[in-house]
Amino acid sequence: MAPNGIANGDGNGSPAPSKTTLSAADAMATLKEYTRGDGLSVAELMDSRKNGGLTYNDFLMLPGHISFPANIVSLQTRVTRNIVLNTPFVSSPMDTVTESRMAISLALHGGLGIIHHNCTAEEQAAMVRKVKKFENGFITDPICLPPDGTVGDVVEIKNAMGFAGIPITETGKMGGKLLGIVTGRDVQFRDPEQPLSSVMTTDLVTGRSGITLEEANTILRDSKKGKLLIVDAEGNLVSLVARSDLLKNQNYPLASKVPASKQLYCGAAIGTRPGDKDRLKLLVEAGLDVVVLDSSQGNSVFQIEFIKWIKQTYPDLEVIAGNVVTREQAAQLIAAGADALRIGMGSGSICITQEVMAVGRPQGTAVYAVSEFASRFGVPTMADGGIGNIGHIAKALSLGASAVMMGGMLAGTTESPGEYFYHEGKRVKIYRGMGSIEAMEHTAPKGSAKVAKALGIDNAATARYFSEQDAVKVAQGVSGDVADKGSVTKFLPYLFTGLQHSLQDAGVKSVTELQAESRSGGVRFELRTASAQVEGGVHGLNSYTKRLFA
Ligand code: NAD
Ligand code: IMP
Repeated sequence: MAPNGIANGDGNGSPAPSKTTLSAADAMATLKEYTRGDGLSVAELMDSRKNGGLTYNDFLMLPGHISFPANIVSLQTRVTRNIVLNTPFVSSPMDTVTESRMAISLALHGGLGIIHHNCTAEEQAAMVRKVKKFENGFITDPICLPPDGTVGDVVEIKNAMGFAGIPITETGKMGGKLLGIVTGRDVQFRDPEQPLSSVMTTDLVTGRSGITLEEANTILRDSKKGKLLIVDAEGNLVSLVARSDLLKNQNYPLASKVPASKQLYCGAAIGTRPGDKDRLKLLVEAGLDVVVLDSSQGNSVFQIEFIKWIKQTYPDLEVIAGNVVTREQAAQLIAAGADALRIGMGSGSICITQEVMAVGRPQGTAVYAVSEFASRFGVPTMADGGIGNIGHIAKALSLGASAVMMGGMLAGTTESPGEYFYHEGKRVKIYRGMGSIEAMEHTAPKGSAKVAKALGIDNAATARYFSEQDAVKVAQGVSGDVADKGSVTKFLPYLFTGLQHSLQDAGVKSVTELQAESRSGGVRFELRTASAQVEGGVHGLNSYTKRLFA
């Protein structure tokens, strides 16, 4: 007998079968006679003693009740103790995924970019500074030339970059005293050796730093000039606004901004070597908001000591620690002061950690176990690795993660580092694991000059990752390529809208409701057998085209 006195008909919480056919009007009342909801609670699903370690493809959410349109679903989420974003999208700190361009685009679309550290501390700090200084519509790092530059220099830039409106400053750099501007017309039919001081326009239209984009746009429109040069009180160039960008200037209502400064949020990754303390100093000076301690196995004395040191030295800096996959690992990092945890060991698309190290955990089980534990301490978690589609994102959130970190999903986009090239007829970009030999040595694969060029790297070995005592480098990742995905300015809105629809199907209006309903047993789950997975994919067609969004 079930606790409410009704005999179970099928061991599934069903009441005893009725002898007569019930009236349709009784459907809702009869539902209440079942002793538990259809499917499994998240705790039942993730009982690894019964079900083994699971990952995203091993289960589904059951549909809930829809009483609202998808576009009101809120994807707002707390990614660290003190940072709330409008979307749960975070990019991986990998040298083929996140540099400043990706970090800016992600932040504009409500996510967070984590700048990789496979470069010098100065280069990484410059990337962070670029994100922090970004102002929509203002070009804060324009190419400048000095007055003794030549007409030939401008022609060269025009040929390479496609534009010729170049500010002339005393130093030839951004931040120098503004002297003039050279446009395509100024250099037409001129001797390539002629100095720019003799051809530049000095009748300039300028705006003072601090003006809004709207004000800048009005001045540009009224002056009928192509470029508005923004200067500080001393006449030094601080940025410029281009007429050609006017129409492109979009509003980004979801943008991830620090409430006080209105600057975009920026994250960066570092290691736990003594030298990383100096690196972090530069990053903090550049305006860093959140640091990721980047390790495949975060439960080490190195990381625990590092978290404590950061919390003492930079109390306002948010620390994302990891990676972890068990409660025991999580407890150590939470106790040390972590503001969020990054979950995943061996789940990445470029990863061979589980194969080589025999250590790791299926990602679904890892996300559930760590998030359930961390939520008791108000520590948000980030599901890192193995996200291959919108469904995986929804499932990671349903298991308790507050955000997802994506590498492969964002690699191959216009905003990811590296150039496109053709591989077997397909337009691709390099995507490689940070524990691959290529990334560890910071070199291109042997004999592949094309790949080195595509990555824009030299052959300077950094030996960043592998332990100095090791005689041999042991790879934990591979290097490959991924297809051109176009721009994240289209891809992120696709993820956003798709995720809203997913949550609507599950019957919840927000990420926080999804997490709460999942914990309380309101959102139900079902395991998928191997044949159920086949059924859930496209099947039985001779051929088909899979277009994901339009
Ligand atoms: P790591 O820096 O954590 O570890 C490299 C080696 O250095 C380890 O042996 C570690 O114990 C040691 N080490 C770290 N700090 C030390 C210190 N202060 N003193 C002495 N030894 C120290 O990096 P990793 O785990 O090899 O990861 C390298 C990169 O590859 C990272 O970007 C990581 O995210 C990525 N990766 C991720 C996964 C994953 O499953 N998420 C797996 C493999 C690699
Ligand atoms: P993806 O989103 O499935 O492509 O996985 C990206 C994640 O893989 C990153 O955020 C890292 O946690 C992890 N990762 C990065 N480099 C390596 C590697 O070389 N080996 C294993 N995992 C890696």
